[in-house]
Amino acid sequence: MTLLEVYRSVLAQLRTAEISGAETEARVICSHFSGLSPEKFLQLRNDETDATVVDSIAEAAARRVSGEPLAYIIGSAEFYGYSFVTPRGVLIPRPATESLVELVLAQFPASGKPVRFLDLCCGTGCIGITLLLERQNAHCTFADISDTALTATRENAARHSVSDRAEVTRGDVFSPAGQPGGFDAILCNPPYIRTADMTALDGSVKDFEPGLALDGGIDGLDYYRYIAVNWNDKLLPGGLLAFECGFDQAGKVAELLRREGFADVSIKKDLSGIPRIVAGTYQ
Ligand code: GLN
Repeated sequence: MTLLEVYRSVLAQLRTAEISGAETEARVICSHFSGLSPEKFLQLRNDETDATVVDSIAEAAARRVSGEPLAYIIGSAEFYGYSFVTPRGVLIPRPATESLVELVLAQFPASGKPVRFLDLCCGTGCIGITLLLERQNAHCTFADISDTALTATRENAARHSVSDRAEVTRGDVFSPAGQPGGFDAILCNPPYIRTADMTALDGSVKDFEPGLALDGGIDGLDYYRYIAVNWNDKLLPGGLLAFECGFDQAGKVAELLRREGFADVSIKKDLSGIPRIVAGTYQ
């Protein structure tokens, strides 16, 4: 089989499975498993393909058709233009979370004084690591209860050469005692799906992504309620607490922050126009 024939076969399978963006995904699978850049793949498209490459591409296509997210199959995902390793067991970075990064960048200028961030429930570490890449004056502590997440964060920090400004620690949101404090900002994309909605999630999320990173309790707000009350003293006075939340939760999360005495509470929309990021400053 030529590379082009392999690509066409993958594309046909993904289309039959009604995977949106089938062309892009077929291209990514083919170039990843053939070890060729997309340009090189195009150049060599009429060459005969190695049997082992054909096999690994076929296996990857079958996994994708079964609903497994592309990020787990190729082992990485793009976030804010950077590539992050995404092992099974860790939530895959999503574009909506880039809006949280943008909000923080807007509040902390590049040439400012040294700043300390906490990426709470860090997962792959994509929020904090992007901030470290964009802000040379920043240091970030990363906390997660999942060892898989901590390993992924360490690997991503090393991949982006920011390990010297990253401190990765095991931390349970519900046991804040003993966790470090004195932060200029706490950034958090906690689990926020209502428990009853977990079974209705898209199959590629429900069957493959970690429930631990998704289930936010009966009303989906367990983490916000607890963090707004029990982590605020980890912030310096005037420090920023910024959350990502579910599509219909921004008003409630903003209300929680106001009730806990946070000032300048704001809601920012994500790129799809959904009110998604809620932030406030601790007085
Ligand atoms: N955005 C994710 C989803 O809808 C949920 C992530 C989270 O709970 N923090 O699948």
